[in-house]
Amino acid sequence: MRIVLLGPPGAGKGTQALLLKERFNIPHISTGEIFREEIEKNTKLGLKIKEYVSKGLLVPDNIVIEVVRKRLSQPDCSKGWILDGFPRTVAQARALEDLLKEIGQHLDVVIYLEVPEEEAVKRLLSRGRGDDRICTLKRRFKEYLEKTSSLVDFYKKRNLLIMINGVGSIEEVHSRIIKELRKLKLYEE
Ligand code: AMP
Repeated sequence: MRIVLLGPPGAGKGTQALLLKERFNIPHISTGEIFREEIEKNTKLGLKIKEYVSKGLLVPDNIVIEVVRKRLSQPDCSKGWILDGFPRTVAQARALEDLLKEIGQHLDVVIYLEVPEEEAVKRLLSRGRGDDRICTLKRRFKEYLEKTSSLVDFYKKRNLLIMINGVGSIEEVHSRIIKELRKLKLYEE
C-alpha cells in the first residue's frame, strides 16, 4: 500500500500515519521528522534547512525531493509506505510522479484529512513543538493555503483523492480511513 497523507497543519497526519503504519506494517516517512532530526544532529542538511523550519516556511523543493528520493529507494520501502507531509507543492507532487515511474511504483491513494482551522490551531498549541508558536503557526497555515492546498485538485484530477472528516477521536478518524480503503478494495481484513 502506498499512501500520501494530505491536510493542513494540525489535521492529525502524523497520528493517523502511525496507526496506518502499524496496521499495514509499512514505513512512515515524515519529511518534517527527517528535517527535525537533521537539525537536532547539526548535520550539513540540518544547518541548511534550520531557518526555514524554525520560521514555518517550506524548505526549497530541490532539497525536499532529494531527501524523499533517497528514502524511497531504501529496501524497506519496496512493499509500501506512508508519506506524511510530502508532497507540499505541485512541483513536489510532479517530482514524486516522476520518481515513482522511475522506480516502477505507483501511488494507491491520497488521504485528505479535513479539519477546520480553529480546531487545528487548538491541537497544535496543545502539542507545543518548537515550530508551534502562534506566529510560526500562522506562517505555516499561509504556506499551506498558498502552496499545498492546490494539491487537492491535483490529486482529484488523478482520481486518487479520498476526503476524510478529521474531527473526532483518533480511533474514529482511523476507522473512517479504513472504511474508505475497504470501499476502494485497497484493503481486506
Ligand atoms: P511537519 O512536521 O510536516 O509539520 O513539517 C515541519 C516543517 O518541516 C514544515 O513547516 C516545513 O518547514 C518543513 N517541511 C516538512 N515537509 C516539507 C515539504 N514536503 N516541503 C517543504 N518543507 C517541508
